[in-house]
Amino acid sequence: MEIKPSKGALFAMERLERAGYEAYAVGGCVRDSLLQGTPNDWDLTTNASPRETLACFPDCRVIETGLQHGTVTVIYEGEQLEITTYRVDGDYKDNRHPASVTFSRRLEDDLSRRDFTVNAMAYHPDRGLVDRFGGQADLAAGLIRCVGDAERRFHEDGLRILRAIRFASVLGFSLEEKTARAVHSCKHLLKNIAAERIREEFNKLICGKGAVEILRDYVDVIAEFLPEVSPMVGFDQQSRFHRFDVWEHTLFALSQTDSPRLNVRLGILLHDVGKPLCFTKDEKGGHFKGHAEAGVRLTDEIMRRLRYDNATRELMLKLVRYHDIPIQAEKKHIKRAILRFGERGLADLLEIQRCDRVAHQIGHTELPDWYADIPVIWEEIRREGACLSLKDLAVNGNDLIALGYRPGKELGACLNRLLNAVIDEELPNDREILLKSLEQPKA
Ligand code: ATP
Ligand code: MG
Repeated sequence: MEIKPSKGALFAMERLERAGYEAYAVGGCVRDSLLQGTPNDWDLTTNASPRETLACFPDCRVIETGLQHGTVTVIYEGEQLEITTYRVDGDYKDNRHPASVTFSRRLEDDLSRRDFTVNAMAYHPDRGLVDRFGGQADLAAGLIRCVGDAERRFHEDGLRILRAIRFASVLGFSLEEKTARAVHSCKHLLKNIAAERIREEFNKLICGKGAVEILRDYVDVIAEFLPEVSPMVGFDQQSRFHRFDVWEHTLFALSQTDSPRLNVRLGILLHDVGKPLCFTKDEKGGHFKGHAEAGVRLTDEIMRRLRYDNATRELMLKLVRYHDIPIQAEKKHIKRAILRFGERGLADLLEIQRCDRVAHQIGHTELPDWYADIPVIWEEIRREGACLSLKDLAVNGNDLIALGYRPGKELGACLNRLLNAVIDEELPNDREILLKSLEQPKA
């Protein structure tokens, strides 16, 4: 297996070593190289102190952001290299932050503070691979295993619980037995972790190739920060249209997408989150009337709790709201959908609807026939360069102000009326005609 450090990594290691220090590539870049992947970035670790490291790169742009934690970022020909001094973490407080960090002169100390064996390997072009904890063997076996005692490592830093299942999902690995047991038994420690950090790990987890298995096996862990999934598990739909319970339906739908888009994966995961709240039963079987609206309310809470950005939250609310409503293969309808979801959002919705369908009862897995026409009509809309938003509209706010409109709500509403008329093909997107269609506003 060949490890080929980037130009910047080679440069920085050589600089440090010429100055008499020791430096290694470490962590994710070594792991991904051994997996024949291309590392996103190269992190280095060194026995030089942060100040000493800084002194080695007087001619480079450096960012000192992590200085007190021992991290200096050097920029070499546009490549960012994080160089961290060997360190041992002191005692941990609140299962989150070490109370102190101590710099060390020994590589081994640094490797032993790292979370998993596959993340605790270092590499130097001349001295080769340093693998004190069996990282290579675990890579070959497809195992995520804590460095040291799993429970102790999770008590030091609860985020590692989620990192363990995130790496397993992304790499398509399993958890080594003791690590797996500790993930379950320590899951409550996630309560101490900031929502943003949970969100970032969760996003990577659900985009991983092993997401379905991990979500199934560790749903109790997920429920620590997403309790809304608990009622989905084993919820019998009692419906002839469904062969799965709500959670297995969701996981099966997720298994049907190859899309790497977070919005698709989040949308699939949440599309039926409202179902357990809406169950009714009559002689025909189970019904879930209003589950999309209930899902919207829960999704809003979830998105706020995990501090998703507004754009993601707003799109997700729409995707959950409309997951069950067919898109008609008519130009007007598709234009309206583009206006509502944006082009990428509409593509996300169609993918969610397809996956949702396939996860119904055998014999009920097909989208309506006309869905085949949607891409064709969509392409036509693109070719025409159709007006799909206020910025495409042939008149703007200034035109209306010139007609005597006052800036504000009324003007906005008027522009939207024009846009709607154009989208519905009641009026052409022609400046003269649009302006003529407006009555003089009453003073
Ligand atoms: P990727 O960036 O591809 O997700 P990575 O391995 O680079 O994977 P990072 O989160 O960037 O992951 O962390 C870099 C390295 O720092 C890890 O490989 C690991 O050795 C160490 N590390 C990160 N977070 C922790 C933690 N919470 N506890 C212990 N070690 C950690
Ligand atoms: Mg990284």
